[in-house]
Amino acid sequence: MATRISSDPLVQPDHEQRMLLGDTPISLAALGPGHSLIAPPLPDEVIISVVGRFHILSCNRTPTATFQELFHCAPFNLSAWIPPHLEMLAPRIGEDVEACTLEILRAHTLYPLLAIFNGLSFPEDSRRATPNKATSAPKRLSAEPIRLCLECLREDLATCGVRYIHRSHQIPGVEVCSRHASPLLYKCPHCECSFGRRSNLALTPWRRCTCKKYVFDSILPHHEVDPVALSYARFSATLLQSSPHSAVPTRVLVESYRDRARAIGCSWGNEKVSRVRIKSEMEKFYGKDFLRRTDVAYRDDRLSEWLKMLNDYSVTEPPLGRHLLFAHFLFRDAAQFLAAVGGTGGNEQSGSIEQPVVKRLAIAVGTRKASKPSIPQRIAGLLRELAVHARDIPDCSIEDLWKSHYGLMKRLVSLDLEAITLLRRKLQQVKHEPADPAKVPRRSEKDGERARSVMSTAAALYASAAKPEKVTINRLAKEAGWNASALNPHAFPATLRALEEYAESNWHFYARRVLWAKLMHKRAAISVIRARSGVEYHRCLVLMDFFQDVDLSISYGAETITRLLAERGIQRDWPGPCPEREFPPAGRRYYTKSPIYIAESD
Ligand SMILES: [Zn+2]
Ligand SMILES: [Zn+2]
Repeated sequence: MATRISSDPLVQPDHEQRMLLGDTPISLAALGPGHSLIAPPLPDEVIISVVGRFHILSCNRTPTATFQELFHCAPFNLSAWIPPHLEMLAPRIGEDVEACTLEILRAHTLYPLLAIFNGLSFPEDSRRATPNKATSAPKRLSAEPIRLCLECLREDLATCGVRYIHRSHQIPGVEVCSRHASPLLYKCPHCECSFGRRSNLALTPWRRCTCKKYVFDSILPHHEVDPVALSYARFSATLLQSSPHSAVPTRVLVESYRDRARAIGCSWGNEKVSRVRIKSEMEKFYGKDFLRRTDVAYRDDRLSEWLKMLNDYSVTEPPLGRHLLFAHFLFRDAAQFLAAVGGTGGNEQSGSIEQPVVKRLAIAVGTRKASKPSIPQRIAGLLRELAVHARDIPDCSIEDLWKSHYGLMKRLVSLDLEAITLLRRKLQQVKHEPADPAKVPRRSEKDGERARSVMSTAAALYASAAKPEKVTINRLAKEAGWNASALNPHAFPATLRALEEYAESNWHFYARRVLWAKLMHKRAAISVIRARSGVEYHRCLVLMDFFQDVDLSISYGAETITRLLAERGIQRDWPGPCPEREFPPAGRRYYTKSPIYIAESD
């Protein structure tokens, strides 16, 4: 196994021995000369890169063969913060499977950050571990694309003899290289095809792209780097390198956050931390665009529990990216943050990171190939075809076309990569030309009818005397017999407007439930009313208080609740009686999440 060594100079470290002994925790000495992981990991190399170099060095014909050889299973997503099956690599490194798995986690995944912020530890509670699960490494999934720094690719070849993918570039929200202050690439600079498409291995540093060019053969134009994005990248990289041995206790983390928030003046009254102030200061500091790019919940305006890392019981729940945004905003300096949470003080990394290299490089101008007469015609045909498709995609980019019309794009770049420039120009024209009335789906004749049916469905739901159910866009659409997400906005503008207008906010729904319970169980004890309403305890108390003056002697029937709400000026988008107050999470999210996966969608 693994005795075939590729002679490919792109992947073969020529002096791996010297470098590995000094820089990585998994030393070559421990592996011995006949080590079976033929691509020993390099400093800050992420695990997908280790496996990718193994694939190329091993000369395996397919990624499936490589996955079988290393993990004894079919290919799976390796571009995760902590991919599954890592423990399968441990026996290739040493005898103590648990210790070797931990070293892989600490040196080649984002485990150190998850240990600091999300309470992750390995091995997990040994009292609960079963013998066959004792070494199964934790997993954390993410769908972020692989990112590369061109400067790092060049420097790694010079210093390590091989190019590779850095894990510090894969930290959520990191957009610039912390060493070179250059923007990270997530797509091919020649053809704009996203890295790692259609393969569970990311082979971009060593193999040609679909367009037949090497990514590292490009020169990026000089780019002004946002100093805040650079500071964030350096802060995150330093924390990653600090490699804590155990998880930071949640109490320590939340107290460090609170103390620091008070110290920078984000508090009110009796030393309470002001979430409103923190949020507005964070917006000022990062800019709303950066927050939208980095945090899904911020982008979707789901902010009621955005800063729940300030609560004792939910400090580890927010996704890693939000913790990093928050910790960097509060502390700015990684060493100071690590000192606060009792870490190593940053390994002096923050001081030793090199200053950004000033780059003033011209855009590479390729030479146009002399093509056979038929090729320009074929290119023109493909360009026309792609432009037609581009008109169907709002604000269409080349990346969008790679996603929606991979085959056409592949044919285009294989004919002539320069066609990408033509395509780019064509897309600009498409953007500025008036919409072709024949192409844009016309408003459907049924739009008005469907909009009216939404309104009458909504009216019936709100007027019902039965126990109130939440009126959502999907529910309204479903009642009428269609799928809300399948409605084309050009064809059904009025229907979609009606759906949005007639759906209710959470608090509007809670209010309806509480009023219903009060009116249906007039003489019942408060605890019974609360239980019948099904509304979470704290929210229910607030609403019971809010509606305490409701006259319970009135007879209950259709429209009663609608009338009571209207009398108090409560609209369907009601944010509740105290929108600033933070409530414990309600519903299923109340329960501690499974220790296996953290969804990044929050
Ligand atoms: Zn770099
Ligand atoms: Zn390409």
